[in-house]
Amino acid sequence: MPDVLVAGAGPTGLLVAFELERAGIDVLVLERDARPTTQSKALGLQPQSVEVLADRGLLAAIEPHADARLPAGHFSGIRIDYTDLPTNFPYQLGVEQVHVAAAIEARLRTPVLRDAAVTAVTQDSEGVTVTAGGRDHRATWLVAADGGHSTVRKLLGAAFPGTSARISLVVADVTLTRKPHGVGDDWQLPSNTPGFLLPLSGGRYRTVVVGEEQQRYGRDAPVTAGELQRALTAAHGPEIEVGQVLWASRFGDAARQVEQYRHGRVLFAGDAAHIHLPVGGQGLNLGLQDAVNLGWKLAARIRGHAPDGLLDSYHDERHPVAARALVSTRAQGLLGAPDVGAVREIVTGLLAVPEARHAVALEISGIGITYPGTTGRATDVPVAPDGRAVLVGASAPSGWTDRVESRDGTRPELVRPDGYVVWQGGPGLDSALRRWFGSELRQ
Ligand SMILES: Cc1cc2nc3c(=O)[nH]c(=O)nc-3n(C[C@H](O)[C@H](O)[C@H](O)COP(=O)(O)OP(=O)(O)OC[C@H]3O[C@@H](n4cnc5c(N)ncnc54)[C@H](O)[C@@H]3O)c2cc1C
Repeated sequence: MPDVLVAGAGPTGLLVAFELERAGIDVLVLERDARPTTQSKALGLQPQSVEVLADRGLLAAIEPHADARLPAGHFSGIRIDYTDLPTNFPYQLGVEQVHVAAAIEARLRTPVLRDAAVTAVTQDSEGVTVTAGGRDHRATWLVAADGGHSTVRKLLGAAFPGTSARISLVVADVTLTRKPHGVGDDWQLPSNTPGFLLPLSGGRYRTVVVGEEQQRYGRDAPVTAGELQRALTAAHGPEIEVGQVLWASRFGDAARQVEQYRHGRVLFAGDAAHIHLPVGGQGLNLGLQDAVNLGWKLAARIRGHAPDGLLDSYHDERHPVAARALVSTRAQGLLGAPDVGAVREIVTGLLAVPEARHAVALEISGIGITYPGTTGRATDVPVAPDGRAVLVGASAPSGWTDRVESRDGTRPELVRPDGYVVWQGGPGLDSALRRWFGSELRQ
């Protein structure tokens, strides 16, 4: 019996599984689909995600698939320079989400169980029973990473407050049999220009369209080549011609978040915990950061040495971050409306002020995210391969060595397994060790 079941083999579920396995925990990922998705979905990894993937030795397998390194992000299409961010990776990596997921999955010890849609969940004082693909699976914990339409969330009746969608958009990957010169030639930041086109590998183009026609269809109405052709012709003139529609999906600007990330023995992460308009490119980043925040805490809890409240600190730390992303994406959605040109002009001017631009860059890139009791992420302390904390420039007091790896270094730092610094020299090492890593410490 595994210690943890993970519902959903998207990037979030896979990274949770990777983090747990790294810490020596047995995990089984249950995935509804028979085969890995071919949908390109997110096309950008924010700097904080690039850091996390690099720290874990996962970036090397992703980079060869990258189409671009963009030294900037954007706020509703307004360029936000990243070059002065305090990170070794001050850029967005332009890469299709499918390659991120594949790189993580390739490193899992236990293969993902596919064709295994979760259909029932019950929990008791000892563990959870999950019915998936018609079979019952038992474990002590369940991580619900089954995406924005999360079945687990519905089965548990978890409150998911927020705002419903008011606009409807279409995202599609297409081939073009003809296009005007200069359109869709370069990988660029998404913009508010109608009929935005981004070149993908293999002659594919990503487009996002939002117009009056899209508002007339229901969420499940098929997207046709004709609909995309009309939108792209309106944007680029008669010289553009859609060939094949390779993948298309309707989405909206609903913004919702689960009230509680923990429901007994079930923990929500990624899109299962929060949905919003994918403007600014933050959704995937949020899911990956949920995964690394949760992984080591759940591992400590399973091993029996998590201090009181450590597992609940997952909700306390991550809920406010996603709540803020919902505010940010709502604001960005409003700024994209056709009749707010004057407000947009003012905001564009404000974001040209270096301090304002830097503050927004810290937020959108994820690099500025800190949690109470931490001083931000360590930029030059790779995480320990086995998911332990790292103590730099000091030796671990006796009894801590199985939880904390000591390393040489001039600047003393105690770094959590998710890369966050919780002590930087001076008094307080002992209390930091106890607060984050200790209970039933063997002296
Ligand atoms: C058009 C578009 C563009 C985007 N662009 C960006 C971007 O540039 N940057 C960014 O950061 N984010 C972006 N996002 C958001 C990003 O794609 C999502 O936030 C990300 O996919 C979340 O990952 P996840 O693992 O939480 O969920 P998902 O990727 O949705 O994975 C959930 C998994 O659970 C499986 N599943 C579902 N139901 C069940 C069940 N009952 N049982 C078992 N398995 C189940 C699904 O098959 C899927 O494999 C974009 C999204 C869209 C739609």
